[in-house]
Amino acid sequence: MKITAKLNLGNSEYVFEVDERDEMDALHKAIVLTNPKTKCDSCANTDTTAFRFDTNKDKEGNTYNSVLCRKCGAKSPLGRYKTGGYFWKPFEKFIKTNPGTSNVPTQKQPEKPAFAQDGFSSDWA
Ligand SMILES: [Zn+2]
Repeated sequence: MKITAKLNLGNSEYVFEVDERDEMDALHKAIVLTNPKTKCDSCANTDTTAFRFDTNKDKEGNTYNSVLCRKCGAKSPLGRYKTGGYFWKPFEKFIKTNPGTSNVPTQKQPEKPAFAQDGFSSDWA
């Protein structure tokens, strides 16, 4: 089943093309990806124009995708279940770890959320 789903976030329009053999999987991806959290858990911002996608890769090659609240800098990472499927994590401010201190929260993301995956592509234009 093929689904084309659109999302307007910040000043960008994203068109997701989901193609999954299983209809529930196709719907799941399309629905989750086009429905990021609309309220920042950190500053209570609900202005969708103040959100934007953010992405980064680490040295191990893991890709992290998230929605960034531009008002406070908190991020809502896209998580992926080991059994398949996606979910948006709550907005949280990630503080860069300062070597030598142990009481600073570190960015823990054991999941490997990635847009690039078989049967799924996104148009970032
Ligand atoms: Zn915020």
